[in-house]
Amino acid sequence: MLKLYDSLTREKKPFQPANGDARIYVCGITPYDVTHAGHAFLVVTFDVLRRYLEYRGQGVRHVQNLTDIDDDMVRKSRETGIPVFELALTNDAIYQADLRALNVLPPHEYPRASECVEKIQEIVAVLLERGSAYEDNGNVFFDVASFPNYGRMSNESTESLAKRPDIPLAGRGRAPLDFLLWQRVTEPDEPSWDSPWGLGRPGWHVECSAMCLQYLGDQVDIHGGGSDLIFPHHESEIAQSESFTGAQPFVFNWLHVGMLRYEGEKMSKSLGNLVLVRHLLTRYPPEALRLYFGSMHYRASEEFSEGELARWGAVYRDRLLPALGIFDGDGDMDVQVYVRRFEAAIDDDLDTPTALAVLDEMAGAVLSTGSPEGRAALQHLCALFGIETP
Ligand SMILES: [Zn+2]
Repeated sequence: MLKLYDSLTREKKPFQPANGDARIYVCGITPYDVTHAGHAFLVVTFDVLRRYLEYRGQGVRHVQNLTDIDDDMVRKSRETGIPVFELALTNDAIYQADLRALNVLPPHEYPRASECVEKIQEIVAVLLERGSAYEDNGNVFFDVASFPNYGRMSNESTESLAKRPDIPLAGRGRAPLDFLLWQRVTEPDEPSWDSPWGLGRPGWHVECSAMCLQYLGDQVDIHGGGSDLIFPHHESEIAQSESFTGAQPFVFNWLHVGMLRYEGEKMSKSLGNLVLVRHLLTRYPPEALRLYFGSMHYRASEEFSEGELARWGAVYRDRLLPALGIFDGDGDMDVQVYVRRFEAAIDDDLDTPTALAVLDEMAGAVLSTGSPEGRAALQHLCALFGIETP
């Protein structure tokens, strides 16, 4: 049985959807720049998870969002002179093309924050009514003191979180951790919507809660994103979603993917140390990237290594590709022993590095025995990494 590490309870738990299809919500990109290898690592991780659940016969409902309106989008729009939604459209098209090249399955729903403003306003209104939020001069803040579990996933007290140097908008609400649900807009070049609290736009955290609740219901089986989203984004999502619906837990299993690092730092737009997927794809086949991402455990934050990427490119070219392809062999091999080891690895919190080692070994056995049965099983398992038989 598949076990997944849950970031909230900090333990590996057997994965069992609460009801029917596995409902998976993944925090998507803010399209103010083009896709880098860190984004691809995250999306490819969830693609393997989804393909594996389906391989096990589990239905999946996968929702991933596009944050097309937030502070970063507004800032980048001002820097470039490109209107916010045009910027979103252009970068999202590049992102989607990159993911198609990597053979990532598209989510079943791909909502944009700007399309869910009605749901967002409904949540804000209810939170105000219940005393979980307060209004201040056209802004609406979530009152963190009203939610005693705030900080549980970070495993830190609110006093300690409040001392972090990177709290966004610190000091603007009554308390340092209080975050914006609705933000007043005064500048004409900033997208805005009418609301009971005046002209404004949604806060970032409530956008994801709204999209998640709108498309998947009050509770979801898996909510994921990069590990840098735990605080404040996901702590805040839990607080506002549970305060709004009254259903606990909002998420049965929190799944966070490590940050790919480059030159010792987290790969990020603000640090300017990006390795772009489209550049890598000019030098390596997409299968090499898929294998390379799979060779790192999803929770690890590893240094990007072009040497390792090249090595996996060679494994694909010299071992997997010949074993997957058409050949005349008619030998025999014990297929099930490999399949069982592969499944046991993925079942153990998506241990893809071990699973890929099994595939490499299996390819060797297929090549040495010429077993058609072995080849068919290898094709089936490689497809879980988005690697198709040419
Ligand atoms: Zn999100």
